Amino acid sequence: MLTVARKHDTTETNNRCEEKKMDGSKGLETLSAEVRKFISTPKKILIDGQWVNSKSGETFEVYNPATGEVIAHAQSSNKEDVDLAVKAARRAFDDHSVWRKMLPSERGRIVSRIGDLILKYADELAQLESLDNGKPISVARAADVVLSADLFHYMSGFATKLEGQTLALSVPFTPGAEYHAYTKREPIGVVGQIIPWNFPLLMAAWKLGPALTCGCTIVLKPAEETPLTAIRLGEICMEAGLPNGVLNIVTGFGETTGAPLAGHPGVDKVAFTGSTEVGKLIVKAASNDLKKLSLELGGKSPNIILNDADLERTIPGAASAIFFNGGQCCAAGSRLYIQEGVYDEVIEGIAKYAKAMKIGPGLDPTTELGPMVSQIQMEKVTGYITSGKDEGASAASGGGRHGNEGYFVQPTVMVNTKDTMKVVQEEIFGPVVVATKFKDLDDELVRRANDSVFGLASGIWTQDISKAHKLAGRIRAGTVWVNCYNIFDASMPFGGFKQSGWGREMGAAVLNNYLENKSVCVML
Ligand code: ADP
Repeated sequence: MLTVARKHDTTETNNRCEEKKMDGSKGLETLSAEVRKFISTPKKILIDGQWVNSKSGETFEVYNPATGEVIAHAQSSNKEDVDLAVKAARRAFDDHSVWRKMLPSERGRIVSRIGDLILKYADELAQLESLDNGKPISVARAADVVLSADLFHYMSGFATKLEGQTLALSVPFTPGAEYHAYTKREPIGVVGQIIPWNFPLLMAAWKLGPALTCGCTIVLKPAEETPLTAIRLGEICMEAGLPNGVLNIVTGFGETTGAPLAGHPGVDKVAFTGSTEVGKLIVKAASNDLKKLSLELGGKSPNIILNDADLERTIPGAASAIFFNGGQCCAAGSRLYIQEGVYDEVIEGIAKYAKAMKIGPGLDPTTELGPMVSQIQMEKVTGYITSGKDEGASAASGGGRHGNEGYFVQPTVMVNTKDTMKVVQEEIFGPVVVATKFKDLDDELVRRANDSVFGLASGIWTQDISKAHKLAGRIRAGTVWVNCYNIFDASMPFGGFKQSGWGREMGAAVLNNYLENKSVCVML
């Protein structure tokens, strides 16, 4: 069996990884027996209900971002594996005898059971997520895992409510004719779902929950940085009673696994979450046969603090808006606009919050800020900090790498920034916030807040309800949080204006991503 090193890790890191032992450091001793067993068995891909090796036999290494150690091996799928997975999904969709014929209530029960099993295995999933992605275990357990279960539970109820309408026709050229016309909502078909590494389990849930509920069949590709919880979720889906071929999972790299999936002629629809850059490649790949597409992409979200904000709530809220998940959130509140009356106090407060954060491996239950997911991500984020400083900004807290082991970055507040700087315009995807002042709540503030190619999320902090709603109406973003941030719920649609994407995740709105509307017109 051939093992390929991950493209972005240096030889030096790989050598260091191989020399290290897995146990006895950075919280690994806290892993349960189930998790140890899971990671020590080479992971496989799921095709037509069977866990198999990739056709090439190639695998890749999965790292612990807190140490750079290799923790597991996963299959490196290529075009051939993707083709087998798509064919299995196609058969499962086209064959009307099992999945398509299943009663909606039964399909809903399977989706709901997936939610139940996620809760049953919650501790194990939280450990795996924290180990693979680096996020604090406390967050993985309280947020990622529970929200994933919620999503399946919420979606399951729609399986029996995918309703159409009856239509009253007024056809002018068939005088006297009577019609019975109605619409139906039908599953879109075989769906290719490509997800990122920042919330590996939750992003899989956001994608699988609605697609299964709608009766689609799926080929899921998790990110190469974090394949573990998606594989475990695949096992859970099979345990919940999903028929063979309905869900297929291929692990591997973007170019060799993701690209063939996005362009495969057997796929009817692609659902992608990730960078805007890769989103554009997906659009190109899917354009050959005009696949349906939904895209949840990057962001550079404005977070606006007015003079009348309740600072006791606002300062920790605005700090957590950027530092949550190490800033590796597409919705992170990464551009702070602070009204001049409270500017100094807010900057001082957020910098103090940042300096007090406990940085450490995700598996340590006291950790508040884990590592970046990979070496390449750490280098990208520290590169942005350097670029900000080179352009004249300075750091009120942080400003570089933390320690010299693992992929940690200090939580950083950049001040003296200008709207044209790279750090203000581009998505950093790390714990780095850029702050500027504004004088009045006027058109100029709105213009600055909307001065971005992105439009994913935004925040407003004020005690004036009228200012809050007026401003909420003028921000060009898919979500506006008022006096809170990063609040996600299965019932609340999430997605972007502008280059932050197409379509919405979650809520009833996501069903549009996975259903076709059919009109049936009967002359009586
Ligand atoms: P991030 O910026 O969050 O790392 P990416 O957009 O690079 O996200 O990756 C998100 C997902 O897209 C991952 O599963 C990755 O493997 C996949 N991916 C990367 N490049 C391509 C590509 N050219 N075609 C399809 N999928 C890709």
